Amino acid sequence: MNYNEVFCEVNKLLKSHVDNGTVASYIPELQKVSPDKFGVHLCTVDGGNFAFGDSEEKFSIQSISKVLSLTMAFEIEEDKLWKRVGVEPSGNPFNSLVQLEYDEGIPRNPFINAGAIVIADVLVSKLKKPKEDFIKFVRQLSGNNQIDYSDRVAQSEKSKGHRNAALCNLMKSFGNIENDIDEVIDFYFDLCSIEMTCSELARTFLFLANYGKDPVSGNKIISSSKSKRINAVMQLCGLYDEAGEFSFKVGLPGKSGVGGGIAVVHPGKYSMVVWSPRLNKKGNSNKGVRFLEEFTSYTESSIF
Ligand code: GLU
Repeated sequence: MNYNEVFCEVNKLLKSHVDNGTVASYIPELQKVSPDKFGVHLCTVDGGNFAFGDSEEKFSIQSISKVLSLTMAFEIEEDKLWKRVGVEPSGNPFNSLVQLEYDEGIPRNPFINAGAIVIADVLVSKLKKPKEDFIKFVRQLSGNNQIDYSDRVAQSEKSKGHRNAALCNLMKSFGNIENDIDEVIDFYFDLCSIEMTCSELARTFLFLANYGKDPVSGNKIISSSKSKRINAVMQLCGLYDEAGEFSFKVGLPGKSGVGGGIAVVHPGKYSMVVWSPRLNKKGNSNKGVRFLEEFTSYTESSIF
């Protein structure tokens, strides 16, 4: 399929779409991004690359990195991991304290903030140099040694990160955080601060479209069983409390971030990233969701 043509057609369909979303402002640095940026990149498992718009511009991947930290932690901890974090959709905002109290410090899933903070804690415990080792892993997945954290974005989030610190403290009180709170939270902010282009991020997610094996390097990153499970968690929990609607409209496992990116995979076919910074009320890219909905309808192709 010539996806470049499809992107043009889908973009035409969205011409009349009025985007009333707003750029995330609770992390001051994110507010500086031009709201009308729009990029798309799709990598097929057999080596095809298709792009549209601002696909070569770096953006803050934010929560999309939670899929990569989960991948690393799952590989280290195996099924022990699921004693500390669940795999159920939350149905609540991604930074809810109420739900965490109710669940006695065991986050519903690894993609809400509390769950990703537990995953960060696992990596702080198990990696010799968490910050260095994690970015090395992301560079391996992306085949790109230039991928990096943004200290500017991490510091900006830290300056306003009181709610995430509260989540971490609450979990510590329930015995679900092993390490020093500041160390875990700083590492969590670093994970969220990674910057990539749509093309770099789509390339990074290709192993999840290919049953755990990177089709470009031939490296087996994780087993096909783990790849299945990570995609299943994305399907059910990847778009916070909009995961059901996203599944209904788009029909692909995906993960969003408040930087406006959404990464999706179609196992056996492709990985794809869309980026548009204006967010809807649930914190997901407004145009990104609309584009993906029209894309899977136009191509008559989803996992269902
Ligand atoms: N760093 C963001 C936070 O902790 C990530 C949220 C997101 O991308 O959805 O609030």
